[in-house]
Formats: sequence, C-alpha cells, structure tokens
Amino acid sequence: MDASYQCRWGAGASPVNAVWPLVPPLLQGEVISSWLMRCALAQGCDATTLTGEVWPRLRFWCSDPDRQLSLEQANRLSRLSGIPPAALQAATLQSLYQTMTGTPCFPRGIAPWFLCLGCRNRRRCGGLQYCPECFKEQIPHYLIQGRLAWHTSCPVHRVILLDHCECCHAPLCPQLITPPQETLGQCHRCEYELRRASTEAVQPNALSFQRATDGLFSSPARRYGDHLLLLTEWLALSRWMIGILRTAARAPSPCTHMFFRELGVNLTDLEPPPTGLPFEYLSPAERASLLANVWSMLEVGPERLIPLAERERIRPSLLLPRDGELPASLAGLGAVLKSARRLNNRPSPSDNPRSVKSVLMRWQRLLRKFQR
Ligand SMILES: [Zn+2]
Ligand SMILES: [Zn+2]
Repeated sequence: MDASYQCRWGAGASPVNAVWPLVPPLLQGEVISSWLMRCALAQGCDATTLTGEVWPRLRFWCSDPDRQLSLEQANRLSRLSGIPPAALQAATLQSLYQTMTGTPCFPRGIAPWFLCLGCRNRRRCGGLQYCPECFKEQIPHYLIQGRLAWHTSCPVHRVILLDHCECCHAPLCPQLITPPQETLGQCHRCEYELRRASTEAVQPNALSFQRATDGLFSSPARRYGDHLLLLTEWLALSRWMIGILRTAARAPSPCTHMFFRELGVNLTDLEPPPTGLPFEYLSPAERASLLANVWSMLEVGPERLIPLAERERIRPSLLLPRDGELPASLAGLGAVLKSARRLNNRPSPSDNPRSVKSVLMRWQRLLRKFQR
C-alpha cells in the first residue's frame, strides 16, 4: 500500500476539552459530514438535531455539507466538539476546489469533478461512495476523496466503489440514520449491513487515472506527449475526452469506431450511461468505464490523436467543445478541424426529431428521481 496515498487528504484530529460528552476522533481522510453524522449518533441524536444545536439558523443538510465551512462556522463547531477549526476545515472539499480552479468558492449547482448529491430537502440521489471491504475492516466512515468524480475504486482493496445500498438500491443517505443505530454501517432505509455488499474488481486503467490525477495535487505536472500538464490542464483535457467518448458512444459511425480503436477504445463495449446525466451524477462503474478509456487515450498522446482525426475525417461537431475551446495541449487539432469543416458541410444529426434513445434517457432520469 502506498502510504503517501492515504496522507494526501485531511490528517484527522482527536477532540480536546469538548463540551459534548462523546466526540469520536475525526479520522484520517474523513469528510466533514461523515464525522458529524458519527458525532450525532455518539450523542444519541440524529444529524439534524446536532447541527441545529451548532448552527441554529443553517439548514445544514439541505445543500452539500462537505463543500466548505467558514471560519466562523468552524470555530463554533470546534468549541463544542474540541476538534481544532483547521482540522474541521481540512475535512471539507474547499481546499481541493481551490487547487483545481484557483477560486475559493464553489459555484451554485454542479462543480466539475465533484460528485453531486442531488439534494432535495434531506433526500439525495447519490454523491457518496464507499468500499464494502473498508467498511468491514474499519469504523464505517466516508472519505474526502470519495466525493471526487475521478475516484471510482478503492486502491487498497482494488474493487469498484458503491454509491447505493445493494439490497434496496437506495442512494446512500447516512444523514438519515437515527439512534438506536450507532454507526454509519447500515442502509438508512432497509438497515442492510453495507459491508456485506458484493464487490467488483477494479478496472486497472481507471485506477491508473485515479492515481495519476491524485498525484498532480502533490507533483507539479504530468507528461502528455511533448506537453507538461498542470492539474487544471490535465483535468480540462480529460474532461474533453470524456465528452467526445460519450458523444461518440451515443451516435457511433464507422469513422469514429476506427478513430477510437486506434486510440485504444472499443466503442462497442462503451455503454452510454442510461440516464445521460452529467459526469458528476454518474455511478462509480459508469465513471470507471469512461475514465479507463480516457487513460488509454492519454497514453496514446497528441502526436497520434491529431493525425488520426485528420485521416478518419472526424466531424468537427464531435471533437469541438460547445464553447469552441480545445484543451491547450490539443491546439493543433483546431487547424485540422477547420479544414474538415470546409470538406464536410452536411447538416448535423441534432436537427432530427428526438430519437428513441434520448426518450429512454429521459425516462431513466425520471425513475432515478423516484428513488430519492
Ligand atoms: Zn477498500
Ligand atoms: Zn437499503
């Protein structure tokens, strides 16, 4: 096990002079909401009662509780729990967001690469992930890195993470667990022991992508062909690749099959996610499948990708993002696409009536809402 891997996220802390009678230590890498929920169960109350005492005017669980904690909020929580404010803030996603974007505050709605909880009041659609083997071996808790969309597998047990209860299929909503339950180890709805869920072996390429992306938080850059990519550039390039993979899988053609095959991707095996939702809403297995292919494409490099796009006359609408901005490391692709556009001026298939696939996609989204 790579020790540095575990230490990259929050260091954790033990309580000192707490007002509350029973405060569990904040575990290494544990995300703030997980510790708050364990803290509530230790006091014998539910999570809303606990946070209502700390911040009476805040509807803490109705939006994403892990995104950030102001210094004032952290100080107040620290006085009651005895955990230092800095450790509480380090258990949120805020510093990761700042490193990835250069801005301190999360936007409203989706933040790229951070899993969406899909909150409606205290109900959720997803956004938390766990490893059944880790739940067996340790006190059940949720990790900071489990909120990141490129995290799809447990590097210790090499299994794909889960984001729902295997028994009743409910999304994980540990904030709804109430006493007499004492841990986060059971499903809030059917009380199934989450550690008993069956596991699926990791996709090695998805884990490689996960490790490489994590590595960019501590190492300065990664090589892509002749380019040295910083974290933000790496994420932008990967996001572009996810976009073209999803578009091509929805509407494959012989040219795109050949183009992707040469990049190490078999489009036939790549099932488009049935909901068609943004990447941050997809299940760990759906994201792992996309990211494994992104890793293959990254390994091939731009020197091969650009001539291939030209040779296979890939339509610009597939490769050009909506805002027209290609990742900087693929700037050379722009000129290739301009000449392709002159050669190929056929109307795009998006002018056609809505397809059966797209209607089914809407249906899957509706079903997902009912699972809340
Ligand atoms: Zn594990
Ligand atoms: Zn359940």
